[in-house]
Amino acid sequence: MSIDANARRWLSDLSFGRVRYDEQMSRHTSFCVGGPAEAFVEPKTSDELSALVAGLAERKIPYQVVGGGTNLIVTDAGISGVVICLKPCMSEILIENTSDFQARVTVMAGTSLRLLCSHVIRRGLKGMNFALGIPGTVGGAIRMNAGTALGWISDVLESITVLYPSGLQETIGGNALCFSYRKLLLPRLTCGESLLQQTIIVSGSFSLVRTSSKDMKQEAREILRNRKRRQPAMSPSAGCIFKNPVVGKTAGELIDLCGLKGLKIGGAEVSEKHANFIVNTGSAVAADILSLMDSVRKTVFERFNVNLEQEVIVIGN
Ligand SMILES: Cc1cc2nc3c(=O)[nH]c(=O)nc-3n(C[C@H](O)[C@H](O)[C@H](O)COP(=O)(O)OP(=O)(O)OC[C@H]3O[C@@H](n4cnc5c(N)ncnc54)[C@H](O)[C@@H]3O)c2cc1C
Repeated sequence: MSIDANARRWLSDLSFGRVRYDEQMSRHTSFCVGGPAEAFVEPKTSDELSALVAGLAERKIPYQVVGGGTNLIVTDAGISGVVICLKPCMSEILIENTSDFQARVTVMAGTSLRLLCSHVIRRGLKGMNFALGIPGTVGGAIRMNAGTALGWISDVLESITVLYPSGLQETIGGNALCFSYRKLLLPRLTCGESLLQQTIIVSGSFSLVRTSSKDMKQEAREILRNRKRRQPAMSPSAGCIFKNPVVGKTAGELIDLCGLKGLKIGGAEVSEKHANFIVNTGSAVAADILSLMDSVRKTVFERFNVNLEQEVIVIGN
């Protein structure tokens, strides 16, 4: 336990009583697994978020930010400290015309990526269609450099505003950000992964191009149809479990060639539809998914000498 009675009083006052203790994280992850968060807070505004983060840092209470929980496995033992969830709040989209052909779209981190995509399509702004069908929030998508074969979020990102543990905010231009496959490194923070975990993305600005909304709608329908055909959308999952190796076959192809589709541990199963998805068949706990991941990784290594790197983020005790 890292939150004593004094800290509980402070948290309740600050968050106007909206803090929840021992909140099951299975309610906040798309995998529907994960034990309790010691405390769970959903700040309503960016000022409330700043005060929360500065107070937690001052009291040396660990915290962890989550968005839609769509790329997360939270362990069954749960999370010590405070989970800050931006998903249901901090959702706002602002569009400014920067020329006759271009617009800057500034989006609060808690906004769902789905909402952003449909919003810009309706306004004839092109550039986000690659993200159609990716669940989660804009903050999570920036942190994960979310993308598909059609593009990555870093392709259209102009700048981000971050909140440091000190409570200070800073806007960083896209050129100063270092993105790689499913990863963002902030310029000052290349020294430590733990500091990156403590830095919260508050908003992102995207540079999009004006075009015909009708053409985009047609393209959007095709992209979504394609995803539905290839992915097990109806079962709880966290999308692709492993990153694709830099060269050669994709992670899904390697897993499929090992004959692992349908392999089950407890309630976790390698999807029959897409071998790089693990699905929760209904009764999975985080330990089932983690064991299945180990088993898949081991089999692929033994057969192909390829070490699969996990794409999904694992947090918790
Ligand atoms: C069915 C399905 C399909 C998917 N398809 C794709 C796909 O095609 N391409 C793809 O890239 N991903 C895909 N994903 C994975 C996932 O949706 C993306 O990675 C998504 O961008 C994660 O966003 P989130 O808000 O859910 O982040 P979370 O899962 O909540 O968090 C992910 C990481 O980001 C951090 N984080 C979240 N918000 C912030 C913030 N505001 N500031 C700082 N750090 C933050 C968290 O601490 C964590 O480390 C899929 C997932 C599912 C379930």
